[in-house]
Amino acid sequence: MLNDKIAVVTGGTRGIGLAIVRKFLDNGAKVVLFGSREESVNKAIDILRNENPSYEVSGYYPNLCNDEEVREIFKTIVDKYGRIDILVNNAGVSATTSIEEYTLDDFDKTMDINTKATFVCSKEVVKYMKEEHNGVILNTSSMVSIYGQPRGVAYPASKYAVNGITKSLARELGKYNIRVNAIAPGVTNTDMVANLPKEYIEPLLRTIPLGRVGEPEEVANAFLFLASDLASYITGTILQVDGAAMN
Ligand code: NAD
Repeated sequence: MLNDKIAVVTGGTRGIGLAIVRKFLDNGAKVVLFGSREESVNKAIDILRNENPSYEVSGYYPNLCNDEEVREIFKTIVDKYGRIDILVNNAGVSATTSIEEYTLDDFDKTMDINTKATFVCSKEVVKYMKEEHNGVILNTSSMVSIYGQPRGVAYPASKYAVNGITKSLARELGKYNIRVNAIAPGVTNTDMVANLPKEYIEPLLRTIPLGRVGEPEEVANAFLFLASDLASYITGTILQVDGAAMN
């Protein structure tokens, strides 16, 4: 479904991002994954190459909020492959802090990686996509961008902003044949959820009509569809992949 497409996936070292990278590779894409540290990037690449030595995968660990660093790496990728067809803005952190306990620094950290990084990477990739008159930008939102959540207000705020970026860039970039969509996962079986307090996660699980959490691969399937030409007339949408959970 993605034969010879060039894809960049931020937060591609584990969880949903790693599942997206694997799904894209399995469907013929060449993938550059981004992570926060050299070790985690190398570990993810080792895992993938052990699974399939023919995967064409490489990685970097830029500060995603530093436009110069991101610009430099995108240029390196385009020098090597000639273009970037797909950008997935997936890196993210969650929070369950109560409003009284929030520091401005905590608030900024969540907004930086979830929202500002989405803005920076999108901004830096657009010129290459415009040159090709072709491109797909996919953002990882969250079901809390629809329902809010009882604690950790910066997290839903950051994902509401991701939805705003998604819908607005779809309008701004449609004329260049650049599609922009978001996937809003529900509770998905990754480290992010494993690290949430039990008293927070258990009431959430009871709201899921499908009766279970989602697997990263099930979320990655939605990314594959929206990245592919099967979704050629879909832009500006927020696709919920959440088993109809309500927060
Ligand atoms: P995870 O913690 O397993 O993975 C997070 C990824 O983001 C990692 O690859 C990590 O390297 C990267 N990352 C985190 N901070 C970074 C930073 N400062 N700089 C660069 N990279 C950084 O989490 P996950 O569950 O796979 O989450 C992936 C995305 O899915 C996030 O945007 C998250 O908000 C979203 N999401 C997850 C769930 C869920 O239930 N797991 C639900 C809804 C949305």
